[in-house]
Amino acid sequence: MTGPFDSGIRIGLDIGGTKIAGIALADDGTVLGRVRRPSGWGDAAVLDGAAASVIELIDQLDVSRERIRSIGIGIPGLVDAASGVVLHAVNLGVASLGLAAHVREALGVACVVENDVKAAALGAAALRRDTAPIAYLNPGTGVAAGVVIDGRIWRGARGTAGEVGHLVVDPQGRVCGCGQRGCIETLCGGGALARAWGRGGELPVRDILDAADAADETAVALRDDLFRGAAAAVRALVLAADVETVVIGGGLTALAPRIEPGIRARLRRDAVPSPFLQSLHLDERIELLPADSAVAAIGAALLSAANAPTHPLEKEIPVHG
Ligand SMILES: [Zn+2]
Repeated sequence: MTGPFDSGIRIGLDIGGTKIAGIALADDGTVLGRVRRPSGWGDAAVLDGAAASVIELIDQLDVSRERIRSIGIGIPGLVDAASGVVLHAVNLGVASLGLAAHVREALGVACVVENDVKAAALGAAALRRDTAPIAYLNPGTGVAAGVVIDGRIWRGARGTAGEVGHLVVDPQGRVCGCGQRGCIETLCGGGALARAWGRGGELPVRDILDAADAADETAVALRDDLFRGAAAAVRALVLAADVETVVIGGGLTALAPRIEPGIRARLRRDAVPSPFLQSLHLDERIELLPADSAVAAIGAALLSAANAPTHPLEKEIPVHG
């Protein structure tokens, strides 16, 4: 008889600015355990939080550490996935940290690190029942996206694949943090919307939607920007990578019922003059995740499997074909 632990357990951690969400998966994807704890500020706190989350999961499952096959970590910031080094994770107070090496050393388990949105893209793809290429769009403070093709994160030549947030769609628009004007991020990024709104508040996007419902002119314009920006991002991802579905996650999913119809309507409206765009049925190709979805932790748990060469011949293909 074989049990769920026989081929090893994969642990995935999603380290965010305020919390760490951890998950333990069996080889067949069954969720064996979950953990949630606050994340800390600075290198030592991030490392301690990661190690404590793993230990908590091991205790919960009541298994020996040898049963843990791999630890995957999704973390915001610039990640060199090959070396496991995290750079500029500003929300966590991390400038440069060899996260994978430290975790490996502390726990004696293989560790892979990836940007949190790319990890979430992998998780979103894994939750689907087919293998069609997908994109994961994460409108948070900024707007990031990841593309998964054949079950693997598509990075592109220099790791920029999917960065549609900095595609200019309104050359006369607001100045973006990247220096350009009218990037998609200036339209539907939470940070840009909060600045344009300028009235403070803990949840500015929700406040904008509330005020727009009450016919506040500024809010109506910003809500329109939100739908326009998200629709532009969906269009860019499908046109550039021909993904079957754009899965939308991130902080805005808490507001899904209030934004999903608007994004779909905007996609339909933008397609009116173009039989070509109409033929793509973009409004039917978006999917909003539930607010409490653990896609980033799930994707992180799957990282080592997805990043390892899956085909024995892959290593042998000569560079010049
Ligand atoms: Zn930009």
